[in-house]
Amino acid sequence: MQVIVAGGGVAGATSALALRRAGAEVTVYEAYTDPAGSVGSFLSLATNGLKALDALGCLEAVRAAGFDVERQRLWADSGRLLGDTPRGRLSGEPLRSITLRRGDLVETLRARAIGSGARIITGERLVGASRAGTKVRAEFESGRTAEADLLVGADGIWSATRRVLDAGAPEPTYAGLYTVSGVARGVDVGSGTFNMVFGRNGAFAYIPVPGGDVWWAAQVSAAEEPDLDAIDLEFLKDLYRHEEVPSALLRAVTSMQRPTLMHVLAEVPVWHDDRIVLVGDSGHPVGAGQGASMAIEDAVVLARSLEDAPDIPSALKAYDTARRKRVAKMVKSASGNRDAKTAGPVGRRVRNLVMPVFVKLFYERATAWLFTHEVAAGWAAPTLATADRVPSGHGAAGSSTGSSGA
Ligand SMILES: Cc1cc2nc3c(=O)[nH]c(=O)nc-3n(C[C@H](O)[C@H](O)[C@H](O)COP(=O)(O)OP(=O)(O)OC[C@H]3O[C@@H](n4cnc5c(N)ncnc54)[C@H](O)[C@@H]3O)c2cc1C
Repeated sequence: MQVIVAGGGVAGATSALALRRAGAEVTVYEAYTDPAGSVGSFLSLATNGLKALDALGCLEAVRAAGFDVERQRLWADSGRLLGDTPRGRLSGEPLRSITLRRGDLVETLRARAIGSGARIITGERLVGASRAGTKVRAEFESGRTAEADLLVGADGIWSATRRVLDAGAPEPTYAGLYTVSGVARGVDVGSGTFNMVFGRNGAFAYIPVPGGDVWWAAQVSAAEEPDLDAIDLEFLKDLYRHEEVPSALLRAVTSMQRPTLMHVLAEVPVWHDDRIVLVGDSGHPVGAGQGASMAIEDAVVLARSLEDAPDIPSALKAYDTARRKRVAKMVKSASGNRDAKTAGPVGRRVRNLVMPVFVKLFYERATAWLFTHEVAAGWAAPTLATADRVPSGHGAAGSSTGSSGA
């Protein structure tokens, strides 16, 4: 089976790995040459995503590119502790959440995909697709075309594949939040803990990194889309002047990324036809620190469906059935999470009263469905003994990339 994957981010690289494991010949076409892109300076992977990564044979490589995070603490703007839980897992679960730069994650996964025999061709943007007999023909902006038995749309929230599948598919809309992230140094915020401050103007996440830096990300609430050029460090300092730790971190900033608007997507009704399928953010940007983990789950479920089903159309149907309910539940939970970040004065007071009780009494019960789900359970151990080496002739053609992605 020949597979084209459009997009070489988390969903694309893990799909390539999973599909190689299912015996497919895989070529990934990625629009950009820079694996980091501009979205999501750092991210965390929760146990559900980590177990799926483990089945793909790359958990330790990803761990080596990041660091373990033991706990998460939630804070009110006043500095009052609202909750203290394990990060991205249930208590007692030995697998710890991993935090790393998105670019490092993508680079690690792409190197693994190439090592497993997938090709990755960068600088090729998918713009359309059509049927060619029993095959699907992908069309790229450069004029290049490619044919395969299956096209996997892993091209993110602005997916072109989604529009190919359904011209009436929803488009992303502004979420009422924008995000700015960066690095600070010289502020002691402990170690091993992800922190989220629910401030007056939005949330502020920070996480100490081994070595002394602190990674931070402000998620600022703004009803109207702001002029991103007007958002600089001085503006942020003023915005978070009431919150003690965020303002200390903003005074100690060593680097800051360009702000990015955050978007949401209504439920995508069509995830597949009989030769094209969506994975990751192209079908469901979920938010709540689960987007990457959900994309990795998708990749494993898609590969398993293709292994188990008698033909590709049945496999894509099985994939849709297996993923819909879980993803919908995640989207709903993420929407509540966003509301907590954009709450007005009254909402903030209610949140500050309710959250400590909820976290203490119900957090574990409310998140068990998420963290304990194992998409790879019963899947045989990785069969690709080649996962650690880059075979000659693969991933080296044309503008293909190795682990540098450049
Ligand atoms: C600020 C922020 C913080 C986040 N934090 C977390 C977190 O802590 N934990 C978590 O799990 N998730 C987090 N996420 C979400 C996570 O980054 C995404 O859900 C995840 O990266 C989805 O991966 P993806 O591969 O589906 O999409 P993307 O990462 O968007 O990758 C899509 C890829 O496709 C390429 N592409 C796009 N169009 C085309 C085309 N037409 N042809 C070819 N290639 C194309 C893009 O260049 C890109 O490389 C965060 C997101 C943001 C914005």
